[in-house]
Amino acid sequence: MISTEVVIIGAGPAGLFQVFELGLLGIKAHLLDSLAQPGGQCTELYPDKPIYDIPALPVCGAQELVDRLLQQIKPFGATMHLGEETVGLVRREDGRFTITTAAGTEFDAGAVVIAGGVGSFQPRHLALPGVEVFEGRHVHYKVASAAALHGKRLAIFGGGDSALDWTMDLATKAAGLTLVHRRAEFRAAPASVAKMRELEAAGYVRFIEGVAQELLTEQGVLRGVLIKSPDGMVHTVHAEQLLVFFGLAPKLGPIAEWGLELDKRAIRVDTEKFQSNIPGVFAIGDINTYPGKKKLILSAFHEAALVSFAVQHHLYPAKKQFLQYTTTSPIMQKRLGVTGA
Ligand SMILES: Cc1cc2nc3c(=O)[nH]c(=O)nc-3n(C[C@H](O)[C@H](O)[C@H](O)COP(=O)(O)OP(=O)(O)OC[C@H]3O[C@@H](n4cnc5c(N)ncnc54)[C@H](O)[C@@H]3O)c2cc1C
Repeated sequence: MISTEVVIIGAGPAGLFQVFELGLLGIKAHLLDSLAQPGGQCTELYPDKPIYDIPALPVCGAQELVDRLLQQIKPFGATMHLGEETVGLVRREDGRFTITTAAGTEFDAGAVVIAGGVGSFQPRHLALPGVEVFEGRHVHYKVASAAALHGKRLAIFGGGDSALDWTMDLATKAAGLTLVHRRAEFRAAPASVAKMRELEAAGYVRFIEGVAQELLTEQGVLRGVLIKSPDGMVHTVHAEQLLVFFGLAPKLGPIAEWGLELDKRAIRVDTEKFQSNIPGVFAIGDINTYPGKKKLILSAFHEAALVSFAVQHHLYPAKKQFLQYTTTSPIMQKRLGVTGA
């Protein structure tokens, strides 16, 4: 069990800046995210898009913003636990919290800040009856071992970079590979599409425009899948391994089960401390709601600043609180690893 002052759930812009604001007050945090990299929506959904409403940065790429935040929080050495969905949050009788992740990591924390955004990102599943039985063994949403797919008959679903990258990687190593996409146009990089077409011309890839209609099974064994084309034709694809890359969709997931007061899938908080109905559990960024809430990065930053004072008071009620400026505070500058002018 890892013991810490604060656990922050979610490493989007809100969670990252929370590390900074707590750090300025000398409070240590562990940061948890179900994704393999920090950045939340900025990194996952629109890394290359410019953002124009971050104060004092007239224009900033979404990934650039995340990189800048990571640089800004570096002095505080928060440990990140990435690729681990937080599944459990329990307030113990002593008022502290036990937080657990799907990977089995356990934390003991004095306060929790939920910065879960629109929820944890989960792969969109193949929507076919009976598919659950094969998920993980024959139907995959990520590739755990490419070598295990060599020599197998594969069907890859999707039109984005993941689908095309794995098509290029596995085409010559599989016993047969069919790529299925609902449209003739692809979202993937044009160079990848061109390479896929080359592999198709060379006979390594069969491309079908269409959608999966039915799994073909024989005595509980997956044999393939039926694909329906826009012209109504049904194609039989023989494959024992299906790789599905339909992108990621956010799901509120376990957060809904922690006894928090919710309002339309958002955590209801006050606007002084951004505290939930559970004392010691705070919520910032897109995941919270209060009268007038605007889901902007700017709002998340403000909320993080106020939460850090609320957390300090929750952890150390006897401690006197006063506002210090980073410009002039020697203790803050020490924490930041800089020296004042
Ligand atoms: C296309 C697009 C353009 C946008 N442009 C702007 C803009 O110009 N200006 C602006 O201010 N805002 C913009 N936004 C909105 C902005 O991105 C969000 O307000 C911001 O990302 C919210 O930050 P967050 O940290 O609260 O949540 P998120 O960025 O959603 O991050 C939350 C993180 O929490 C993780 N998480 C959730 N549940 C769990 C769990 N149970 N366990 C572990 N991890 C979990 C998720 O995996 C995720 O990484 C835009 C959004 C989109 C989609």
